[in-house]
Amino acid sequence: MKTVVIASNNAHKVSEIADALNFEGWEFKTLQQAGIESDPEENAQTFLENARIKARAAHEAWGGAVLADDSGLEVDALGGNPGVFSARYAGLHGDDEANNAKLLAELSDVPQSSRTARFVCTLVFIDEDGSETTARGTVEGIIGFEARGTEGFGYDPLFIPDVLGGVKTLAEVTQQEKSAVSHRGNALRELKKKLLNA
Ligand code: IMP
Repeated sequence: MKTVVIASNNAHKVSEIADALNFEGWEFKTLQQAGIESDPEENAQTFLENARIKARAAHEAWGGAVLADDSGLEVDALGGNPGVFSARYAGLHGDDEANNAKLLAELSDVPQSSRTARFVCTLVFIDEDGSETTARGTVEGIIGFEARGTEGFGYDPLFIPDVLGGVKTLAEVTQQEKSAVSHRGNALRELKKKLLNA
């Protein structure tokens, strides 16, 4: 059995990743489950560099295969923000409710036609031998005027993808439906293809 450590303690991310990368003989562990403490500063300007920081730190601590995800929301009316600051938009890392409230407030005067946005996900996989494989996925949509739905995490209750009819938020669909269209789902499908062809 090959154990891949996912360099995240976000249970939602871990579940979406483990569901998608269902290679036979692979099992996934969170940092916590692997007994690793790795919390490097994500101080880069891009999703890719931040994912690489997390992957390298986890690989050094674990010594085996690791997968890191860095992701976020780019809102066109905000010049691409919150971007790499998505997790700490309102100040505190991972305070989803405060982040969503801040985003709604920032967009309070912005009409529907200008509320375009995309989720971006970058993955960095480092194998046991230190070799690196990267993948990127996006999903286009708009930011709604109110939070709707209880599934998922982060900005999901505000994000209405263009696919799926352009009506439901990502928090109003199942994890399976989300993964079929999401930035993370798209990045994972690309990573899977690259790993299978390696
Ligand atoms: P990271 O864990 O440093 O990559 O931060 C990612 C942040 O981007 C999360 O805390 C969320 O705010 C946001 N984000 C990333 N992916 C998603 C998603 O699939 N749904 C909703 N929010 C997301």
